[in-house]
Amino acid sequence: MFSNRASISTALRSFKLEDHMLCYNSFVPKLYNWCLSLGFTPSKIMPSRAFCSDESQGFPIILIAKHFGAFPFNHGRVGGIVSIERHAPHADHGKDLVLVQASHVGYDAETGEFGVYRRLHTEHETNSCACGKIGKIVQKYAEEYQYARDSVRLIRHEGRPSILLDYLLISPRKQGLFLVAENLVAGAEHGLPRPVSTRSTGHVFTAAPSLLARLGEDTWPHEGSVAIGTHLDAEDFYFQREGHWEDPFQDQLEHNLLAPMPWILTSTHPLLTAACANTLAEFERTYRSLLQSASMDGKNLLFVAGLNIDISPNPGDDFPLTKFVPWAAYLQRSDGTREIFEQTELLQRLGAASSSNPTQLNLEQAIQTMAGKREIQVRI
Ligand SMILES: [Zn+2]
Repeated sequence: MFSNRASISTALRSFKLEDHMLCYNSFVPKLYNWCLSLGFTPSKIMPSRAFCSDESQGFPIILIAKHFGAFPFNHGRVGGIVSIERHAPHADHGKDLVLVQASHVGYDAETGEFGVYRRLHTEHETNSCACGKIGKIVQKYAEEYQYARDSVRLIRHEGRPSILLDYLLISPRKQGLFLVAENLVAGAEHGLPRPVSTRSTGHVFTAAPSLLARLGEDTWPHEGSVAIGTHLDAEDFYFQREGHWEDPFQDQLEHNLLAPMPWILTSTHPLLTAACANTLAEFERTYRSLLQSASMDGKNLLFVAGLNIDISPNPGDDFPLTKFVPWAAYLQRSDGTREIFEQTELLQRLGAASSSNPTQLNLEQAIQTMAGKREIQVRI
């Protein structure tokens, strides 16, 4: 998905959000009715979800249980990663199968801010990061990006616009933030040229003509130097990481975000962009794993991936108003035929399905019924 740098911004832009959202209250019954129209058998569908462990994902899970009449199988890890090694047990638990993957991002409707979620159960009902796991990863890279923004400096050498590059950013390393030198330095198409001058903490190079054209010569100070700051675009740098991940169970999430990280960090809403990037990566990775999973042979399977936008609950609310932005779906029928639905078509299919489900479970009544059952003794 993100193996080619040139295609990353196009891929991220292709995930449409505006006018592509469904409230979970209508999305889940529509999904259920779409499954029935595809020939899935009522009461024989085992739903599954690959959501983050955040409690904000609870309401969607409750709705899935209510409309499909079964508590969804847990296919997910923190951050919205799909546990692809769980396909076989999921397949074993139902005749027909549904898998919903969603990365998530919090949203404060009052401020319009993405990446925060009001935790009503904290003492002072404070906002915190959502998705916190994605936020933690992004923060680590944001610090490196901030260092680069401060340490790549515009300076004049003998009156000509030049660029001062911090030694750390141009030193040979195995991991960290790396500059795309040809975007910044003249004649760097095949590696950095000889510097025109040297300072105590970095080398000075003649600025690339493309940088001069992009920023305009007036951006350069007549004396001293200024940080390149926000002019350091996503196209101007990249990250590399190797080995010794901090959390071995989270390799996949950080791996998914590594290549698109420059676009995440420079976007208006980094945690929103990061959640979208993770969904793009997880759909493709999971689709390929489902193709190869023998446990899915002969099954009806619908896999839908998207984004959960958790609209912060207000004091007194029991649940958030979660919206789902579908990205893509993969349908595999029991006769072996396969189909992929891209975002527009997926939205049309869901839009055409009814949001009415007369067979939905009455959860309160179901709990009452179970409470009224004769007690069963467990014999040891
Ligand atoms: Zn999360």
